[in-house]
Amino acid sequence: MIIAGDWLVPVLGAPIRDGAVVVRSPLIVDVGPLLQMRERYPGLPVREHPGCVIAPGLVNAHTHLALTSVATAIGRAPFPEWLGRVAAAMRALDADDLAASCAHGALMSIRAGVTTVGDVAYGPEAPASAADVGLDGVFFFEVLGIAAGELERRLQEMEFPSDVGSCKGGRTVCGLTAHAPYSSGPDLIRAVHRTAHERGVPFAMHLAESDAEVELLASGTGPFSSLAARLAHGFAPPGCGPVEYAHRLGALSGTIAVHCVKTAGDEISLLAREAAGAVLCPRSNHVLGNGEPPVREMRAHGVRIALGTDSLASNDDLDLFAEARALRALDRTLEPEQLLSIMTMDGAAVLGLQDRVGALTPGRFADVIAVRTGPTDDPVRALLDRGSTDTVRTVVSAGVLRVVDGRPTVPTRTIENDSARVALKAARALRVS
Ligand SMILES: [Zn+2]
Repeated sequence: MIIAGDWLVPVLGAPIRDGAVVVRSPLIVDVGPLLQMRERYPGLPVREHPGCVIAPGLVNAHTHLALTSVATAIGRAPFPEWLGRVAAAMRALDADDLAASCAHGALMSIRAGVTTVGDVAYGPEAPASAADVGLDGVFFFEVLGIAAGELERRLQEMEFPSDVGSCKGGRTVCGLTAHAPYSSGPDLIRAVHRTAHERGVPFAMHLAESDAEVELLASGTGPFSSLAARLAHGFAPPGCGPVEYAHRLGALSGTIAVHCVKTAGDEISLLAREAAGAVLCPRSNHVLGNGEPPVREMRAHGVRIALGTDSLASNDDLDLFAEARALRALDRTLEPEQLLSIMTMDGAAVLGLQDRVGALTPGRFADVIAVRTGPTDDPVRALLDRGSTDTVRTVVSAGVLRVVDGRPTVPTRTIENDSARVALKAARALRVS
């Protein structure tokens, strides 16, 4: 099929007026002006999108799809208390509930034009539910609260794929994450990082998210001290910042560092030198009262930046356009082209998927969105200003139509009903906890 619009924004390359992308599932085979594409590929059906900009599917580099259904029950609270509510809600869910919650999050994502995620997963139901609605990416199986010696058993319990072949095949990659310095001890962080490295899969960690985390690492005190005593086996305050701590553990190399709000100076240099990149989640930081990431300083030091919504439990929606506008509000020197790159190519690069997704070029997966912007002479700016779940008209993922005329092609009602059932279960669990 050929997908055409008033403009096509390939990300790698200049915008093309009356541009089109030629898709032969699952890949992109050609990109150029519609007239030329029609001549070159006669007989292929054309989906035209007047008033729309065609762009790559977006990359939400940090989210927790499994928290979608429990978001309302958890509600808003200061960060340490909020974490306790998340844990209580999640304890009440079984594998079917997790699958339903992930499916709802995946549906919300694809509706918003997101085709690739960096998702924190608890088991195989996350990639499976996501793939059902056309969402792929890296699923970071999460470990916390155990001793390093228990890691292999825990990975087996979670059904983490044991051979790299099945793990990296196709569009879904299973990575690993040690949740955070206050919930995973130093030996566990080292072991998870080493295991990810040995298996050739990405490693992520929440780092430098809150003042409570910084205080714990500096002096062993504050709101996280009892949590760390319970979960972070062998933890002793290192007397440094979280990024420096990860570096000292040998666990910063190639790491996808999530949040990085409480970083400055040398720690930002460390991130630039060692980490795969930083995934910023500005709206989640705001909701949880954790402040603002130092976006300008990170860019000045050459940190590769990706963008994430985090979970629905700490955000209003899973819409990466809205997240990008929040990032722009923190750094007005960000040009529209840079923001779009952060939402696509840079996100793909931080997740290690730069050869597969993130741009409209032949050979990449055909992840394509059409966004209604109205007439414009500046398609990238228009995309940034007007992009939203409401203006995404078409979503193609790996060459398959997943949203048509703004409506998902999967049975939305079933997914939403299943999610509502899980929401009630979580609310009951939180009332009695
Ligand atoms: Zn997170």
